[in-house]
Amino acid sequence: MFVLGLADVDAPTLRHDIGFLRMAVSEARSAFADGCFPTGAVLVGGNGDLISACRNDNRHRRSFLAHPELTLLLQHEQLLHAHPYTCSLYASLEPCLMCLGASMMARLGRVVWAANDHWAGGSKLIQLNSSFVRSRRTELVGPLCDEAKAASVALLDSYFESRDRRVLSAIKGHEHS
Ligand SMILES: [Zn+2]
Repeated sequence: MFVLGLADVDAPTLRHDIGFLRMAVSEARSAFADGCFPTGAVLVGGNGDLISACRNDNRHRRSFLAHPELTLLLQHEQLLHAHPYTCSLYASLEPCLMCLGASMMARLGRVVWAANDHWAGGSKLIQLNSSFVRSRRTELVGPLCDEAKAASVALLDSYFESRDRRVLSAIKGHEHS
């Protein structure tokens, strides 16, 4: 399995993707405004309709696992179970190992993200050529949409302004250094 990029997405799909990535970034902005790690995600049905949007809530839930992607998957588990490989997940930042693994377990059709995470990004930490990953038909696409990517990275910049900047450098990797 490979991670797809801009060149692999046709124009109508890209327009659709950009709209939902903007929505995911808007959720990340809301998380940041509330003092939480600035990530957001959106779950979309096979018909292209929005199912739900969610932001990171690590601060209030006092949880390391309050990632918006995982929250959405758990909230809509029955729907995903009934409609395998039809729903899509859009994330402001590349989903982590946990959320990407859960997305494949939940048999999502597509996982699309705005900005790469070179530190905890799932696509760097899982074996894309493993038999488990290859047994899943989940399409991975990212980074996509320069505008959403820049907005997502700007939120991370602001969040880490008074925190450990080494983590921020690790997330950005070589792309932004
Ligand atoms: Zn996660």
